[in-house]
Amino acid sequence: MNKPKNQFPLKIIFSYLVLGAIAVVVSYFLYTEYKNNLSAANDPETAKIIETGTLINDVYETDSFSRIALLTKKEEDFDTYLQKTEALYEKIDELKRRISDTSQIKQLDSVKKLLALKSDNIEELRIFKLISEQDTSFDDILREFKNVHRAAGAMYLEDMVKKPWKLNPRERRIYQDFIDYFNRNVLDTVVGSPKMDTLIKMSRNIVLQIKRQNFRARKELQEKENELLQNELEVSSQLRNIITDFDEKMNLNNAIARSERLASEARTDKILRLAGILGALVMVFFSYLIVTDFFKTEKYKKRLREEKEYSEDLLKSREQLMATVSHDLKTPLNTIVGYSELFTHTELNEKQENYANQIASSAHFISKMADDLLDFSKLEAGKLVIEHVSFSLEKLLHQIAKAAKDMHIQKPVDLHLYIDEALHGQWFESDPLRIQQVVNNLVSNAYKFTDSGRIQITANLLKKKKDVYRVELAVTDSGIGISEEKQQLIFKEFTQAEKDTFQRFGGSGLGLAISKKISQLLGGSLKVKSTLGEGSTFFFTLPLPVSTKVQHQEKMMSITPVRSSLNALIFDDDPAMLALLKELFEQMNINANGFTSFHEFKKKTSLDFDFVLTDIEMPDHTGFEILEALKGGTVASYKQQPVIAMTGTKKMAHKEYLDVGFTDMLQKPFSKNQLIAALSPLFLLKIESNLPALEVFKNPSHELFDLSFMHSFLGSDEGLNDVLAIFYQQSEDDLVTLREAVQEEDHEVFGATAHRMLTMCRQLGAKRVVPVLETMEHAAQEDPSASEMESLFVSLKIELEKLLSGLKGRSAATA
Ligand code: ADP
Repeated sequence: MNKPKNQFPLKIIFSYLVLGAIAVVVSYFLYTEYKNNLSAANDPETAKIIETGTLINDVYETDSFSRIALLTKKEEDFDTYLQKTEALYEKIDELKRRISDTSQIKQLDSVKKLLALKSDNIEELRIFKLISEQDTSFDDILREFKNVHRAAGAMYLEDMVKKPWKLNPRERRIYQDFIDYFNRNVLDTVVGSPKMDTLIKMSRNIVLQIKRQNFRARKELQEKENELLQNELEVSSQLRNIITDFDEKMNLNNAIARSERLASEARTDKILRLAGILGALVMVFFSYLIVTDFFKTEKYKKRLREEKEYSEDLLKSREQLMATVSHDLKTPLNTIVGYSELFTHTELNEKQENYANQIASSAHFISKMADDLLDFSKLEAGKLVIEHVSFSLEKLLHQIAKAAKDMHIQKPVDLHLYIDEALHGQWFESDPLRIQQVVNNLVSNAYKFTDSGRIQITANLLKKKKDVYRVELAVTDSGIGISEEKQQLIFKEFTQAEKDTFQRFGGSGLGLAISKKISQLLGGSLKVKSTLGEGSTFFFTLPLPVSTKVQHQEKMMSITPVRSSLNALIFDDDPAMLALLKELFEQMNINANGFTSFHEFKKKTSLDFDFVLTDIEMPDHTGFEILEALKGGTVASYKQQPVIAMTGTKKMAHKEYLDVGFTDMLQKPFSKNQLIAALSPLFLLKIESNLPALEVFKNPSHELFDLSFMHSFLGSDEGLNDVLAIFYQQSEDDLVTLREAVQEEDHEVFGATAHRMLTMCRQLGAKRVVPVLETMEHAAQEDPSASEMESLFVSLKIELEKLLSGLKGRSAATA
């Protein structure tokens, strides 16, 4: 599969960048346009346009006021007009200050002059009007004279004709002649005083004369007024012309500014359109890229899913294959191991013995390999479950060191164990079996690649954070070392540092791969430091939470006395195991009542007990059934006391037992301290934490058994001998049972008996018997033939007899 180049996010980022760049450029253009427009709006020219607009309005306004002043002839109206004119002057001055064009300034000056002229004109006109007003007085005087004359008997045309102005000149003359005649003749007789009449006439004539003079003067005034009006009209028209001219210029400027603005708007519009089109194009382009990428990614995802499913399938089948192979391998392998060992103990010549040894060691090798493969496939499938049990790292390391020392007793290599004082007596909660597996692997590698010199196991406390210790377990050897370039490779599965490693040292290349994975599962790490030819150090670093159970107990220990009146109820179908536990409890001041079956116990249900310890795999009732029976209320004396399970198999994880309702679970074979650790949180028990540390190196173990477990359990040989006596008896009985089962081809009894025997044999570290029993247990499930059963029985009998005689010999020696 060619690797898809994942440019998906890159393209998206790039498209955003391009869009951003367009936005920036467009913003820049728009901003400059906006600034242009803004400066145009702030331009004094624009202000001038506005000013001239109002100037024209003001001129017209003052004009109107002048007319009002002339019409009303009132003083206050004229004042208003003057004020307006004054304001107009100021405005013109203001405008002049802003204008740079000299011709325009001149125009404004002439406007000012004309306005002044106009004011003068108006003033004059007003005065003329006022004067002409006074002329009516002469008419009134004359009218009075007429009335006096009438009273004296004189007649006038209007006294004869109603509408004298309608008469034609001839009629008028006739009437007038008559009236004159009448007045001449009648008046003298009527008035009787010609002097009076003459006086009136004279006076009238004087007034008439004055009136005529006055009329002439008025006519002159009229002419003057006309002249003034003409003048005023001219001034106004000039003013208008100048202002219109000025206005036109301004309008021109205005038009230019407007066209500029329009052009700018058009440009803005163009920019926006362009940006829009460009943006859309970019969007389309990148959308296309992104969409194609998306579909590509989807395609790859689908392919990846398919590949994943395929590889998961492969992994599953590989795991199945490995499990089947290793399981199927293990059974015949155990047979091979068993028989080849039996074979070596028969009469053989040197060559034959050599062959037999070869077979045995190869079988061991394959057996180990099958175990590794099984572990590895479990790790790969993520099926390896990490347990959390209380344990003492100190003791665990002692055990490991002792076993390693025993195993390589013939090698001239010193094994040293150094444990940081801070770790002494400390109990942790983790998976001791897995830790042991890793350290064992490191130590056995160290032995494998070190011919002489020394190996050191060091446990150091690196850091303590609250209740979690960060511990470094280092295994140093003075062996062949590993070249720098190979140091990383060795942690990969099926790899060995050198090409000839397999030929020289054997091994599968799985050990470190498994160890590394386990260290990671435990939350730690595995690293190497090495110099070719000088040796290597493997650092296994891991966090170890302090065991709260034991901590609590240890703190309480000093203030609370150990409870002495505890009663234990034990179920185990193996009498030897029962005896062992009873012995153990006796030493701990605990009264123990043991039963090999639940049936037996049911006869004595009145028994009082503080806790129950039950085996899981028993023929009559399983541990689960016992728990159910207790919880179900069939036992009167059961009042929710804790029930602890014991099991020799690893079918279920620790947690599953707790889930079912057990208080705790002990994996067989277990040490006394493990038992105490399980009980201590429940009842305050004293812990014996000072194991004889260096005893590890002093006490060479027997080739057939390892009693260190039993020692740790029972301490004294006295108790051990009691337990062993029961074990001897039980073993004899078991052999009888097995022989019968073989004869009757009863697979069930065959398997069950082997299973039961396993517990005690494991507890005794019976190295040779355990594999045969394991083979028997497995074989029982696989429908073995009669001859297979027979041969397995024979090998067990031989091994068991050897073990018993070995044990008895040891008892005799120490007794
Ligand atoms: P193997 O089963 O081959 O020992 P491991 O995974 O345990 O597999 O080790 C892988 C390889 O790492 C070994 O074959 C060896 O080449 C190298 N190696 C491991 N431990 C040591 C050591 N202590 N000294 C030198 N080489 C080592």
